[in-house]
Amino acid sequence: MNDKAWKEQMAQRLTNASAFARFLGMDKTEDTAIAEAEKQFPMAVTPYYASLIRKPYEKDPIFLQCMPGAGELIEATWLTNDPLGELPCSPTPKLVHRYPDRALLLACSECATYCRHCTRKRISGETLPPISDEELAAAIKYLEEHPEIDDLLISGGDPLLLSDEAIDRILSAVTKVKSIKAIRIATRVLVTLPMRITPGLINIFSKYKPIFVNTQFNHPRELTPEALSAASMLIDAGIPVANQFVLLKDVNDTPECVEELCRTLYHNRIRPYYMFQCDLVRGVEHFRTPLSTGINIMDYLRGRLSGMAIPNFCVDIPGLSGKIELLPNYIIEEKPNETILRDNRGRVTSYPSPITTK
Ligand code: SF4
Repeated sequence: MNDKAWKEQMAQRLTNASAFARFLGMDKTEDTAIAEAEKQFPMAVTPYYASLIRKPYEKDPIFLQCMPGAGELIEATWLTNDPLGELPCSPTPKLVHRYPDRALLLACSECATYCRHCTRKRISGETLPPISDEELAAAIKYLEEHPEIDDLLISGGDPLLLSDEAIDRILSAVTKVKSIKAIRIATRVLVTLPMRITPGLINIFSKYKPIFVNTQFNHPRELTPEALSAASMLIDAGIPVANQFVLLKDVNDTPECVEELCRTLYHNRIRPYYMFQCDLVRGVEHFRTPLSTGINIMDYLRGRLSGMAIPNFCVDIPGLSGKIELLPNYIIEEKPNETILRDNRGRVTSYPSPITTK
């Protein structure tokens, strides 16, 4: 596969709700809330991703991730444009340094499809140009001056929408920083534009190991033969692929859906890595589930799936310094000589405390 297929998909994207509705053969396209939502947050869907949608549309998990709507206009005091607090942690225009040993390079603000649930709605859009030579040089200088950073995440937007040459230039520059030992690329092209994974791109990645690809399959229906073939190309080339999905109301918030998603990912060598609680970001509130939904899903998965196939359930809370992992509570009571535990089927048992020898 060459660049022609993905570039054609990009050229034929459905970039407003009316075009999207026409593509699907929907009757009604006029709606003031839809118009306002797409005015506030960009809209684009690849024909490939739109072709996965099935009737009834209002219940389709892929349609819900693509179509602007009234839910994006909800306002609440806890919603912000930058819930992860990335802006105050940006020492150079395209670099975020939020954790001591890790940094984030925002390489491109464009995405193949604009997910309605995006945490970086403040960035994702086509208004910002890709990282410039000057911005890349400033980021590299900062990384060289901070050797405690050994892990670089390249994200955006979607960095794999850049040309092969631009990706090669960025990877060449960051791998010259001696302290960078691992590079993670965050991309959703496997889901929305799998034809972007070309032999040419794999050849570039192969020059710069260790590279890891993190993607975001949110629903089993997204795991098409095309998507799995793109993931296989990366994995066969020695590039591990992990999945970080977002728990989304009415899209994937049932235990059965998450089980099928994680099982299929695992069987196809894609590591289910994170299940994220929806962030407290403006425009996404209608997708947010109670924390108990995720905890109950974790309880359901344990014992049904191999530990290799169970993601970590995490929530990112504004003002705190990182993700909080949430787990079901298996401890019923702690006593001096024993702890009373339950398993995921509700069976209760006693675990004896160690004998004290001193
Ligand atoms: S691909 Fe990623 S950055 Fe782009 S809109 Fe979707 S979630 Fe946001």
